[in-house]
Amino acid sequence: MFRLVFYLFLSVVLISIVRAILGVILKGFSSLFQTTQPAHPVARATGTPLTGELKRDPVCGTYTVASNAIQHSVKGETFYFCSARCRDEFAAQRR
Ligand SMILES: [Zn+2]
Repeated sequence: MFRLVFYLFLSVVLISIVRAILGVILKGFSSLFQTTQPAHPVARATGTPLTGELKRDPVCGTYTVASNAIQHSVKGETFYFCSARCRDEFAAQRR
């Protein structure tokens, strides 16, 4: 009778140990996958806000967020550009 209880106890301990080891392994794997797949890498790299008014660059046709765009006013009208190069090109055309 004592042996039966002992073996039952031993099997319970063994199962809990195996489960703990498996849990650690699975945790390690999930953290491994989390580090290899960062969410929105482009947004993090550039720091560009994902919301905001979109303005069309009249030179190259690219849509840029108004708060990030390079602004240039001509006779009270404001134009938005993706880069200083496009703004300079636009200014050269208007000259
Ligand atoms: Zn442009």
